[in-house]
Amino acid sequence: QNLGQTDIVPVINDALNLLDPTFKKNEINYKANLPKVPVLMKADTIQLTQVIFNLVLNAIYFSPKNGTIKITLEETKKKIILKIADEGPGISAENVQKIFQPFFTTKTVGDGSGLGLSVVHGIIRSHRGTIEYQSNNPTGAIFIITFPKQ
Ligand code: ADP
Ligand code: MG
Repeated sequence: QNLGQTDIVPVINDALNLLDPTFKKNEINYKANLPKVPVLMKADTIQLTQVIFNLVLNAIYFSPKNGTIKITLEETKKKIILKIADEGPGISAENVQKIFQPFFTTKTVGDGSGLGLSVVHGIIRSHRGTIEYQSNNPTGAIFIITFPKQ
């Protein structure tokens, strides 16, 4: 892990730009609502990119055609909050308990290893953050990542 003081706004933008062809290919839209000012935190850029990648790829996979994925970043006095919301089926109460376990997947054989969210969880914990699932309205998944500010 290579922690350094980082503006995470361009990290998110770069990850979304890399995923742009995947959005287009799957006919999914995205809206990023990011602060116009730097959001600084002690982070490993590569690991943070991996988190955004995994969460957004899941959101794309489960999105209906023409669905919109919303990525928002907010900063409060004490916290940095990143949300990734989709319009897919969401996750059942039964499965929510298992999604961060390695190898848990509901994808068709060959599509998923079930490792994505366990890696995401580990990286967020190593940045002293938390990740929570919330259901979207009327349908979909929201992943809320919160990092404390030093
Ligand atoms: P994989 O993508 O290989 O299945 P993950 O760890 O990334 O593994 O995700 C585990 C499981 O969590 C998925 O198979 C799916 O059941 C559920 N999941 C993750 N993200 C979403 C999402 N955005 N919408 C619905 N289900 C999701
Ligand atoms: Mg995945």
